[in-house]
Amino acid sequence: MRLRQLPERLDDQAALLHLPGGHPALVLEALRRTGGTAVFVVATLFSVYPVVADGAPATERFARSLDVGVFDDINEFFARAAQPYGFTVSPAFRFQLAEPLFELPPEPPGRHAFTAIAWWSLKMRWWAWLRDWNDDLITPDIQMFVLYHGVSGNNELGISVGMRKGRYGIVKAFASRELLPKNNVVLTHELLHVLGATDKYVLSTGEPVFPDGYAEPGRVPLLPQRYAEIMGGRIPLDYERSAMPGSLRQCRMGRLTAAEVLGHREFVLTRLYESA
Ligand SMILES: [Zn+2]
Repeated sequence: MRLRQLPERLDDQAALLHLPGGHPALVLEALRRTGGTAVFVVATLFSVYPVVADGAPATERFARSLDVGVFDDINEFFARAAQPYGFTVSPAFRFQLAEPLFELPPEPPGRHAFTAIAWWSLKMRWWAWLRDWNDDLITPDIQMFVLYHGVSGNNELGISVGMRKGRYGIVKAFASRELLPKNNVVLTHELLHVLGATDKYVLSTGEPVFPDGYAEPGRVPLLPQRYAEIMGGRIPLDYERSAMPGSLRQCRMGRLTAAEVLGHREFVLTRLYESA
C-alpha cells in the first residue's frame, strides 16, 4: 500500500496526500507540480500492543509470531471506504508493533457506571502512558492494546473499547491466524471510535440501527444486506437476524460514520504540513 508514485491528478490546493514517512523525492515532485501548494498529510502512527491475555504458551507464541503485515487490510479498508467521500488516504496508518505484554490493562466498567468510568479512564490513561514510556517505539498518535485469548469453547470475549480522549483502544481478540480478519473488524471499529465515530446499533440487542447502521440503506429490497456498516457492526439479514462480518471486505463505511470521521479534523490528524 505504499505510495510509490504521485497520483495523476495533482493540480489543485485540495490535493491531499498521505506520504508514508514523507519520502523527500515525492514531496519535492509534488511541490513542483502544484507550484508549491500541495498539502501533505503524514499517515497516523499507530502502536499495537499484543497482550497475552490468558497467559497461555500457545497465545504467547501467537503474539510473538505477529508482524505489522497482519494489519494491512485495515489500510485497504480505509482506502476503499474513504474514496466515495472524495478522500485519498493510502495508507491511512503506519503500524508499529510492541513486544507482547503479559499485564492486562485495567478492566473497563459497565457502560452506565459513570463514576467508575471516570476513575477507570484515569487509571487507563496512566497505564497507557506507562506502556509508551516503557517501550522502545516512537510515541504514536494512537495506542491499541489487543488482548489475545486462545480459541476455546467459550467464544464470548467481552467488550472492546475505543476512547477518543486518551486516543487508545482495547480490543479483545482471538489468538488464531484464521480469525485475524475478524479481529481486524473489531480493531477497526474501535479505531473509528478513537477517531470520533459513534456506535450505530441498538445497545440492548446489538442489531444495527436503520439507516445509519446499514451499509446500503437505499438497497431494494432492503434485506438481506450484503455488507455491515462498520459502526453498525453486523450484516442485517432479516428483521430479527444479522451476521458478524468475517472480514473488512464485508464492511463498508456509511455516510454518518464518514462524516464523523473523515469530516473530522482529527482524521488528517496532528501533522498537517502546508508548503510555502
Ligand atoms: Zn462501538
